[in-house]
Amino acid sequence: PVVTRFAPSPTGYLHIGGARTALFNWLYARGRGGKFLLRIEDTDRARSTPEATAAILKGLEWLGLNWDGEPVSQFARKDRHAEVARQMLAAGTAYRCFSTPEEIAAWREANPRQPFQSPWRDATDLPDAPHAIRLRAPRTGETVIEDAVQGQVRVANDQLDDMVLLRSDGTPTYMLAVVVDDHDMGVTHVIRGDDHLTNTARQIQIYDAMGWPRPVFAHIPLIHGEDGKKLSKRHGAVGLHEFAALGYPPAAMRNYLARLGWSHGDDELFDDAQAREWFDLPGIGRAPARLDFRKLEHVSGHHIGAMEDAALLALLQDFLRETGAPALTDRQRQRLEAALPALKEKAKTLPALLDQARFALIERPVEIDEKADKSLDSVSRGMLKSLTAALQHASWTRNELEQAAKTVAEENGVGLGKIAGPLRAALAGRTATPSVFDMMTVLGREESLARLQDQTE
Ligand code: GLU
Repeated sequence: PVVTRFAPSPTGYLHIGGARTALFNWLYARGRGGKFLLRIEDTDRARSTPEATAAILKGLEWLGLNWDGEPVSQFARKDRHAEVARQMLAAGTAYRCFSTPEEIAAWREANPRQPFQSPWRDATDLPDAPHAIRLRAPRTGETVIEDAVQGQVRVANDQLDDMVLLRSDGTPTYMLAVVVDDHDMGVTHVIRGDDHLTNTARQIQIYDAMGWPRPVFAHIPLIHGEDGKKLSKRHGAVGLHEFAALGYPPAAMRNYLARLGWSHGDDELFDDAQAREWFDLPGIGRAPARLDFRKLEHVSGHHIGAMEDAALLALLQDFLRETGAPALTDRQRQRLEAALPALKEKAKTLPALLDQARFALIERPVEIDEKADKSLDSVSRGMLKSLTAALQHASWTRNELEQAAKTVAEENGVGLGKIAGPLRAALAGRTATPSVFDMMTVLGREESLARLQDQTE
C-alpha cells in the first residue's frame, strides 16, 4: 500500500509551493487507496513555533487535504533517532568522532574543497570524551538516486563526507531524523521539492547502512513567478492564506495547483475525482512551473460556476467570516442565495461575486453613489414612478418585469437603456450591477418597489 507524507518545517506560513507538495502527496495516496501522513519537522527549536504549526494545519484544512492519523512531531521522536544512531554504532556502520569544531576547521583549511575526513573513522583507542556519531559512508563508488521525476542522479561518494548522525550534545541531525521517521512511518513515496535532491544521496546512504528499503523518490521542480524567476514576495501572493484571502475557492486551488508542474494531456479543468484518478508521477515535468494568475482566475471562475448554490453560499460565508465581516442576517443570506444562480457563472473570485451581489446585502435606504446619482434626474424619476405603478400588480416574473419596463420606456419615447440606468441606481445605488431584472427577481416585489419609491417620493 502506498504511504506518502507531507513534512513541513513549522517556521512560517504555508507557502504555495509547500501546499502544492502536500497536494501531490495527497493526490498520489488518495488515488491509490493509500495513506497520506503529516509530519511536523520541528527539530529546529529556535525557529519552530506552535503558531506556524497551527497555520500549516489550518492551510491544509482550508485546501481540503485531510491527513491520516495524528500529525507526527519530529522533535518528539528524538530518542528514537538517537537509538538508531547507537544501533548503527553497534553495527559498525557509524563511528564515534572526537574532532572538535576547531580541528575540523583546521582540517578544511589544510584540505580545501575536500569533504572532511575524520581521523577517528578507523581509530581503535578511543578517549572518554564528548563525541559526535558519524556515518561510515562509502568512500569509493557512487550513490545513485533513481528519481521518478529527475531520472537517474549519480553522486560520487568521495564528494560526500561522513555525515554527522548524532551531535555531541546528543541531538539527532536532520538527515538522520528524516530517514528514521520516513522508515518508521512506512513511507513508500517521498514526493518533495527538488531543493531536497542533494540531501537525498545522503539519506540513501543511511537507508543502505540500515539495510532499509529505499522509498520511491520524486523531486518536483520549484514554482517560479511569471517572469521565470524563483517565486518570492515580489510576485505577489506566495502564502496559501493570501490566495484564500484573494477569494479563490479551495477546489479551484486544488485544480490549479495540481496543474502546476503536473499535466494530464491538455486537461486544464477537472474535479477531485478526476485528479485522484489521473495523478501520477510520470506526468510531473522537469521544468519549473510558472505561477500564472490569469490561468488561476480562469480555473477559479470555472469552479465557482460549477458549484452547488448551498456549497457556494457556505464558502462565501466562510470567506466573509475570515475577513472579519459580521455574520449575514437571515434575510441577507436568503437574498444572497437567490442571487447566486445568476451571478456564479460570471464571477472569477469570491469577492468579485460578493461585489456583484452587493445589492442583495444592503438595506434601505440605499445609498446612491455619485455616478449612479447622475442617472436620477427628474425625467427618470418620473419614469421610475410610472414603473412603480405599473408593477404594483405584476406577477413577479422576469418576463413581465421586462415587459413593464419596455412599456414605460416606449411611453416616454426612450430606449430600455434609459430606464435601466435609474433602475440600477434605485435598486443598487451604483452603476455596475447585475441585470436589473435579476436584481428585482432576487429582491422580490416588496423590497424592489420600496427601493423605487424611495427615489420617487
Ligand atoms: N521539512 C522539509 C521542508 O520543509 C521537508 C523535508 C522532506 O520533505 O523530506 O522543506
